[in-house]
Amino acid sequence: METNLARKKIERRRRGRVAVWLCSLAALGALEGCGRHEEAPVSTNSQRVNGVYIPEGGASAPWVSADWVDLDVHSRLALPASFGLVMSNNAGEDVTVGVTLESFGLETRKASIFLGSLVVPARASFTVPIDLSWLPIRSVGSVSSVHASLQLQKGRAQRQLTTSRLAYEFEPGLSTITLWGSTARRFALSNPRDPRQERMQLAALDATLLTPQGDVWNGSSFVPVAALPPVGGAGYQIRGSVDFWEAWPASVPAPGTPLDGPPGPTKVCASHTWKFYDASVGEDYFWMNGFNAEPARYTAALLENYDTGQAVWAGWLGPSGCTPTMDLPAGTYGLTLASKLRTQTNSGAVTMDVETEQSFDYGGAPPNTPVVGYARTLFDVHPGPAPSTVQVGVYLTTVASNILVVGGRMFDMPDHGLSQGHIRVTTRDPSSNNIDCSSGGGEPPISWASTSHALKESTICIGRKNTLDPSDAWSKFVVGHEFGHTVQGFGMGNLTTDYDNPTSQPLCRCDHVASSNQYHCLQSQEVIGAGASEGFAHLYASRIFNHQEQSDCAFGYYKEFMDSSYTVQQPPVAVNCKTPVKWLENQCLTANRGVEYDWMNFLYDINSAPSSQRTSLSNLWQVYLTACSPPECESENLSWSALKDGAKAHYGEFDARYTRVVSSGDNFGVNH
Ligand SMILES: [Zn+2]
Repeated sequence: METNLARKKIERRRRGRVAVWLCSLAALGALEGCGRHEEAPVSTNSQRVNGVYIPEGGASAPWVSADWVDLDVHSRLALPASFGLVMSNNAGEDVTVGVTLESFGLETRKASIFLGSLVVPARASFTVPIDLSWLPIRSVGSVSSVHASLQLQKGRAQRQLTTSRLAYEFEPGLSTITLWGSTARRFALSNPRDPRQERMQLAALDATLLTPQGDVWNGSSFVPVAALPPVGGAGYQIRGSVDFWEAWPASVPAPGTPLDGPPGPTKVCASHTWKFYDASVGEDYFWMNGFNAEPARYTAALLENYDTGQAVWAGWLGPSGCTPTMDLPAGTYGLTLASKLRTQTNSGAVTMDVETEQSFDYGGAPPNTPVVGYARTLFDVHPGPAPSTVQVGVYLTTVASNILVVGGRMFDMPDHGLSQGHIRVTTRDPSSNNIDCSSGGGEPPISWASTSHALKESTICIGRKNTLDPSDAWSKFVVGHEFGHTVQGFGMGNLTTDYDNPTSQPLCRCDHVASSNQYHCLQSQEVIGAGASEGFAHLYASRIFNHQEQSDCAFGYYKEFMDSSYTVQQPPVAVNCKTPVKWLENQCLTANRGVEYDWMNFLYDINSAPSSQRTSLSNLWQVYLTACSPPECESENLSWSALKDGAKAHYGEFDARYTRVVSSGDNFGVNH
């Protein structure tokens, strides 16, 4: 069943433990997970752009690390067969692990099966055989993909973990399965025109292969896909998706390269898949648990006709994730997305490259080099009336697509505060591998943002706390927070990052933070500029995931929070970002100091006030720039009175926006 290499890995990792399922294919109930994050001392790094460097997140230890036994598998297996899931308990206590398989395939369908729970004893490491007949989508003649999603429970605490993705395809009669790990990407590299050319030629000869075939788990049994309602629209069918991470071949137009298509009635719309561990804290966007789809807004794309071998259209998808309408004669097409975004603003453009470090050598970039990724899905347009919309799921590596959907929402958000600039985001796949955000530095590999106001260049590294931790890319509030530092850096420069905190009041310190570093936290007393800077990043994450015009606001904080009764709440902590708490004033009042919590809520208040009183982000930059020493605010520690004077000078003494800044400053207790 497994390859020799896989077997060797199993033997190496097995320590005489036997995995015992506590239950099988039973409902586990909703085990909510979490993420958590942190910050480190400031240091400089020659690889970062010349600007202010702000260290941030870092996930807590996940207790158990898990991934497929061979990430590089390429095997054709006769069924029944199984494939190993390797689990290692890094904690000093037993951990209960619930295992769910989640598949995508058969025309953008998704399905999941809960396999059961098992106890991974403290410090134990073993391999759990996963019966491949339980893959929730059994696609015949087209590629599907599968992750294992793990719910970890240690005592009363819960976490989540998601493995790397495997691609697979069944043969008729479900007698045989072909399984790919990252090897599928190597196929793509060696034959960039079509990673599955052989199959495409077969498909052209055998019309039955053009109809989706296979079974989908509906929650209680496998049902034939033919019995299910069609998805995606009429007149076409979608095949599998393969992603790859390498330099784009010079012979083919790169996604994003402007190339108009022939006028016609059909648009092609793509989606990214996403999943966040800090879901459902009361936010309005991306609040669902599990894997979900989102329009691939603003994403670089290329549409090719595989019958003619010609590029049909290339450019950037619109705010709905669609191409313009065009003429698509019957035939086979490939839609390729790159992990890049671009939006046009009134004064320029903002671009974002999401780069992922791969642990494999693809014959081009050496291992661990951050590279932009590509993913391609094939579909057929059938003869007959032209479809108006072709809906395509394109499956980039999840850590990248998570960042892309947050970036797409940021670009789509009213008052996003961006005018021009380039953002480079790096992280790493697969989920069980470390990313070294510390290269050239020396601090832990935690997330950070480094932005130059003058150059309009920003680098974000989405990291983690320790080698085995999940990437912070699974936490949307960390990703949104880092975007906040970048946007503020572009707009006005980043304020000071002095987190010095001499107070002895435990409610204004971070000693209760156990899952992450204690350099600063939502409630810590900081110099006022640092509180204002971190508060802005929290505000920006809150803006991304909440409706600005609604009366409520929910922020999912990614470290422990100790409330005023000294009870420690576990992350993600649902924080109200709309109501005054006056943490500094009530817990540890000191002049010229600030608390992130107060500044987040103050900034949200002036930025979501009724329009006549509202400080838009572009006006916020002007208020600050009026108050700061020219030419920008980089590394400054601006007092409240200086900020207030800046608002007065920018707006005028009798402007409702200025009076709102003053009254909100009083109401939220940032006026010290
Ligand atoms: Zn921060």
